[in-house]
Amino acid sequence: MNSIEDLKDMMLPHIRRLKPYHGVDPMEVIAERAGIPADQVIRLNGNENPYGPSPRVNEALGNFKFYNHYTDPEQRKLRSVLSKYLGAPEERIVAGNGSDELIDLLLRMFLGPGENIIIPSPTFGMYSFTADICGGEAISVASDENFELDVEAMVVAMTDKTKAVFLASPNNPSGNIASSSQIRALLETGRLIVVDETYYEFCGQTVLPLMEEYPNLVILRTFSKWAGLAGLRIGLGVMQEELAQTMISMKPPYNVNTAAEVALTASLEDTSVLLDRVKAIVAERERMMGLLQKIPGIKAWPSQANFILFSLPEGQGQRIFDGLCSRGIFLRYFDTPQLKDYIRSSVGLPHETDAVVAALTELVEG
Ligand SMILES: *Cc1c(COP(=O)(O)O)cnc(C)c1O
Repeated sequence: MNSIEDLKDMMLPHIRRLKPYHGVDPMEVIAERAGIPADQVIRLNGNENPYGPSPRVNEALGNFKFYNHYTDPEQRKLRSVLSKYLGAPEERIVAGNGSDELIDLLLRMFLGPGENIIIPSPTFGMYSFTADICGGEAISVASDENFELDVEAMVVAMTDKTKAVFLASPNNPSGNIASSSQIRALLETGRLIVVDETYYEFCGQTVLPLMEEYPNLVILRTFSKWAGLAGLRIGLGVMQEELAQTMISMKPPYNVNTAAEVALTASLEDTSVLLDRVKAIVAERERMMGLLQKIPGIKAWPSQANFILFSLPEGQGQRIFDGLCSRGIFLRYFDTPQLKDYIRSSVGLPHETDAVVAALTELVEG
């Protein structure tokens, strides 16, 4: 019989070496760590929607009768509902178990061992994590001091092993958008260009129309953030019909579960309520921005999404993050050399903004 050591040796080397992706901890875990009741925790580390899903979602989930049936592997109804929302043909749409699954499917379609993708830095962690799982590599190209993409350097970094570029617009964690001329310049390289528009509803800017001109463009969206469905996992990709067909045939057959489909359909029947909430979040973002800017030592970066990245005086990042945690305020800290004195806060409810601002005012030594 094999020992556990033998089994570990049999594991693929790139999986053995994998660095874990740190997602958001559950509320109870966060509360226990801080030693405070869960209902007093301020959780602004996952860019979640503070208003929750549309009230119609709970109703629709409760009324639905057919949870005993498998979902449609070809996503016919789902793709038609999504097509109406996006204004894109249903043949070009694939729904995923969160947009994370679409990142995974795209990389499994295109990226093999020894191959690479280009990503800007900083950006969303799942691109490099998923590339590593495929045995490939993500080559990070630093954006400039204002988090603008360095498109020239991204093109220079491409090799004959480069299959794709992944970027988010608005970018996570910096909140800025990529211009359509920057995206065009990347599209001209002929590589697969994946533009992750997870935060589209907060800014209204999209490169979807460029798809007519460039078959190598793929766009990702999600219902996790603007529609408050993060826990139900529903995202989507828009791509050329041939790519979509391949993706439909290779994905797990029932990847989007029935509850997610019911919730999505109910959400799309209630978009005016959801988009009013998006407006409230955007207004609160601007109020938070103004308050953060007034704290000596803090610089906040203009954001087009539902979060704000801010920098702290040099060397204070970790201490201030820990100080916030001990007050029951959980924001996102990135333990990387590039962002060691930065913290990202989601935009929450007004009283949460006020608590964050008050704690930071106490903690920052300007
Ligand atoms: C939150 C986030 C995602 C994940 O979306 P899911 O649909 O919940 O998987 C993808 N991309 C970016 C840039 C994000 O910030």
